[in-house]
Amino acid sequence: MSTFAAEPLFEQLVAIRRQLHAHPELSHEEFETTASIRGWLSEAGIRIADYPLRTGVVAEVGRGGPIVAIRADIDALPVQEETGLPFASRIPGKMHACGHDFHTAAVLGAALLLKQREAELKGTVRFLFQPAEEKAKGASQVIASGALEGVSAIFGLHNKPDLPVGTIGIKAGPLMAAADGFIVEVKGLGTHAAVPEAGIDPIVASAHIITALQSIVSRNVGALGGAVVSVTRLNSGTAWNVIADQAVFDGTLRTFDEKVRTKVRERFEQIVTGVGAALGAEATVRWLDGPPAVVNDPVWAEQSAATAKALGLQVVEPTPSPAGEDFSFYLRQVPGSFFFLGASGPQEWHHPAFDVDERALPIGASFFASLAVDALVRLSE
Ligand SMILES: [Zn+2]
Ligand SMILES: [Zn+2]
Repeated sequence: MSTFAAEPLFEQLVAIRRQLHAHPELSHEEFETTASIRGWLSEAGIRIADYPLRTGVVAEVGRGGPIVAIRADIDALPVQEETGLPFASRIPGKMHACGHDFHTAAVLGAALLLKQREAELKGTVRFLFQPAEEKAKGASQVIASGALEGVSAIFGLHNKPDLPVGTIGIKAGPLMAAADGFIVEVKGLGTHAAVPEAGIDPIVASAHIITALQSIVSRNVGALGGAVVSVTRLNSGTAWNVIADQAVFDGTLRTFDEKVRTKVRERFEQIVTGVGAALGAEATVRWLDGPPAVVNDPVWAEQSAATAKALGLQVVEPTPSPAGEDFSFYLRQVPGSFFFLGASGPQEWHHPAFDVDERALPIGASFFASLAVDALVRLSE
């Protein structure tokens, strides 16, 4: 078991995180962020690998042997920051409200630590600084660039505000949900509000459909299945005395199991078209396919827990999160594990007053560095 002490890097990692925090960039616009990461890597003599990515960086420490990958996401959100921190976002309407600045700094820290012991490595550690996680597009782009080729195991983490610093949530199996979106169009027939029998009211049809959709979770998913169906927006009509000719509503489905996901989507379509038809309307579903669930490999989850314990971290069984995370696309190709690192935050992800406790930065760095070494040893046996 290998252990790295990252405390000497604390000031440097804090400075890196704060610089990123002050200069957030949205998904697919991470040009300055990309330049900064390249700069920090180059300063440390870390090799930057050449893959065709517009934003994002791939770097490597070590040569030959098996390859393990460590991923950080680097993008920010369209949120107006309200933390009042001295290093708060300088860009109006943009904020690192999900802590991807923290992830980037922690993974950079791991790269710096591993670089110091490069000669001892039993293989190669590839660092994926991935763009556009918040749009769930970046992981697929990194995969399409070829940067996952040859990788035998992959690891990533998300900060977790409700876990204290010094703890890490590790579990085999599902950790984060599949996050699909839907847009439902309900076509009726417009008419005078006083003469409803001359038309087909899409608002009444939508109301029945939306109510019937509530039966999916309560009647079609078992107690342990785990699913969410949320309608989050409904638009229809132009005037108080006109029955509209159509309504549109949208929202999201969250599931943790591929079978449950398929079943929920099937039931959803049956209810939309069936209830719509029963009321004379033509209702159709357009799916916005999101990332699948994050499902951790049991062997790598166990190895990760052993590494974390050797570092003196408190390993806890995390409650799975219904949020989505495009790390799942890597896990469909390569086994690995995703973690929740305790960050003692005052607010949940995406909140305008979101923050992390920076004492978790060196913990993330040493955990990743130690895990990479342990994984390479395991893969070389
Ligand atoms: Zn997020
Ligand atoms: Zn995030």
